[in-house]
Amino acid sequence: MQNTATPTHCPYCALQCGMNLTPVPDGGVEVTERADFPVNRGALCGKGRTAPAVLSSSVRLTSPLVRSGGTLVPATWDEALDRIAEELQRTRAEHGPDACGVFGGGGLTNEKAYTLGKFARVVLGTSQIDYNGRFCMSSAAAGGIKAFGLDRGLPFPLEDIPKTGCVILVGSNLAETMPPSLRFFTELKENGGTLIVVDPRRTKTADQADLHLMPRPGTDLALALGLLHLIVAEGRVDEAYVAERTAGWEDARAAAMAHWPEYVERITGVPVPQLREAVRMFCEPEAAMVLTARGPEQQSKGTDTVGAWINLCLATGRAGKPLSGYGCLTGQGNGQGGREHGQKADQLPGYRKLDDPAARRHVAEVWGVDPDSLPGPGRSAYELLDALGQDIKSLLLMGSNPVVSAPRAAHIEERIKSLDFLAVCDVVLSETAALADVVLPVTQWAEETGTTTNLEGRVLLRRQAITPPEGVRSDLEVMHELADRLGVEKGFPTDPEEVFEELRRASAGGVADYSGITYRRLAEENGVFWPCPTQDSDTHPGTPRLFLDRFATDDGRARFVPVSHRASAEEPDDEYPVLLTTGRVVAQYQSGAQTRRVDELNAAAPGPFVELHPRLAARLGAAEGDPVAVVSRRGRAVAPARITTGIRPDTVFMPFHWPGEGRANTLTNPALDPTSRMPEFKTCAVRVEAVKS
Ligand code: SF4
Repeated sequence: MQNTATPTHCPYCALQCGMNLTPVPDGGVEVTERADFPVNRGALCGKGRTAPAVLSSSVRLTSPLVRSGGTLVPATWDEALDRIAEELQRTRAEHGPDACGVFGGGGLTNEKAYTLGKFARVVLGTSQIDYNGRFCMSSAAAGGIKAFGLDRGLPFPLEDIPKTGCVILVGSNLAETMPPSLRFFTELKENGGTLIVVDPRRTKTADQADLHLMPRPGTDLALALGLLHLIVAEGRVDEAYVAERTAGWEDARAAAMAHWPEYVERITGVPVPQLREAVRMFCEPEAAMVLTARGPEQQSKGTDTVGAWINLCLATGRAGKPLSGYGCLTGQGNGQGGREHGQKADQLPGYRKLDDPAARRHVAEVWGVDPDSLPGPGRSAYELLDALGQDIKSLLLMGSNPVVSAPRAAHIEERIKSLDFLAVCDVVLSETAALADVVLPVTQWAEETGTTTNLEGRVLLRRQAITPPEGVRSDLEVMHELADRLGVEKGFPTDPEEVFEELRRASAGGVADYSGITYRRLAEENGVFWPCPTQDSDTHPGTPRLFLDRFATDDGRARFVPVSHRASAEEPDDEYPVLLTTGRVVAQYQSGAQTRRVDELNAAAPGPFVELHPRLAARLGAAEGDPVAVVSRRGRAVAPARITTGIRPDTVFMPFHWPGEGRANTLTNPALDPTSRMPEFKTCAVRVEAVKS
């Protein structure tokens, strides 16, 4: 490896900040500023800055582990791979291909996600594959497809945000989840624009807002409908735009008119004058945006909620125009690309549908298999995990830690334990890997090359900067070796660029067309936005801004979706009178499998807590730091109290990064959205109890 700086990207969130990695004399690597990447212009949060610590962590796995006599013990690569192949073969022979499950992750590169989907369908012949990105933004994806015919996190680059007139940010605490992005909103305000934040907590992001709306968790849908009602009542609908570029307005209008402001105030707790002020701020400027994140999306009505916010944009002519639109702030590092190339239960590469005969033919031809041999759509992530040990007997898991991150986690942990066989690829012994029969130690971001697609739809090249430690192999090598052992000798290359070349062909003509993107272009340009088809005459520039001429529907018109408020799957009652909402803190990332191994991050965020209002704390007799128990119908979690007036008195908040007694996902409700199959992480009914010492 070279000793000069290698330009690459952060391993964590969907911002995919640019950074340089420079080898240092002790064999490690140091992060230095990379100012040329426009998304972060050199700025990094603590997670990105400290990411190299995981590369050389003392708990880094460097040898395969195989369970023997109940204990995981070091083994050779051949022993470990042989064992996995034998178990998968046996499961298939005894129970059929669908008894083998595959579970991926939104952090896997495009090449890995593509290969994992191909491995499941071609080598194992199973339909049972999905990934943790289902938990992240699938409701926004479903809502975007219904309305626009296409789902891409943001339909415009982040650099457009400072130039618009108003942004409504719904359920995103980006000041903590992706701090460098806050700059775009600060510049928006410096330019005279306004920021409205919708969040039941007064977060660091809400502190920046010109207007902060604090709805009860689970009522964002009613809130959006109430705003649309006022837009109609105040004569602020862009009738010409609605007539020219949309369809379905009358039904959506009728649904919104049933949500009069006082009724919405009763549901959400947001006072009518604040609703009117939000409408004024959103409608007066020439251009405006709505951006959603996990708050409105992780609900059992997440798809409808996203649809309601999109309706708001369509009614006011704020979609498919410069500096206006609806976007979703995706969360995981490759949450966007991960769902485009085939690890989602219902999709083939290029965002093709698995139940579309033409899509099956195209991809089967690239893969050199009979289209009829490809299985159909499988179960969604939670449903797949819930079937473990039932009709799914063996699982191959890559880049995920569901023991911490899945809803109703204690139940899922039991399901995982009931498997006949579990194989996990990871860099450390995560809580899920610790339950495995075989653990394979794999390379990390700085030790391998691959592409990711950030929240803007910008495809990026992560470059290898250092040589991996002895004893680890890449996920691509793992799949190559397993395919070979399972009788498929060709079609699973270990070189990421070779995989990407095949992905280009597989995605050609699909919604997420990458065929015009090459490693060479990615190395020379600061990423390329999809769709980027191949052109005979010249190089396609990529598509930073979508829908400016037409939406991706058959007739080019966006679709209003008529939606109405409905209750969450669990509303408070006498036994469980409080609402729990969950989320992240700035110093930890997702299940914490990596960030909990970094001393600096642990010092900043050492463990879980329960955020609650002083009035609720007083009722319990709990002081700051006292242990409190949060109890739902699924279990009990205990963590220290953090008392603040920045949360609604009827709501408590817990971050979900930790296992054990304070595991927030012990409590969460796996009620699924009927379309996206996304669980309702963002709201469930609980009671809060003082813990006697
Ligand atoms: Fe990495 Fe996200 Fe932090 Fe940027 S904001 S440094 S991508 S974790």
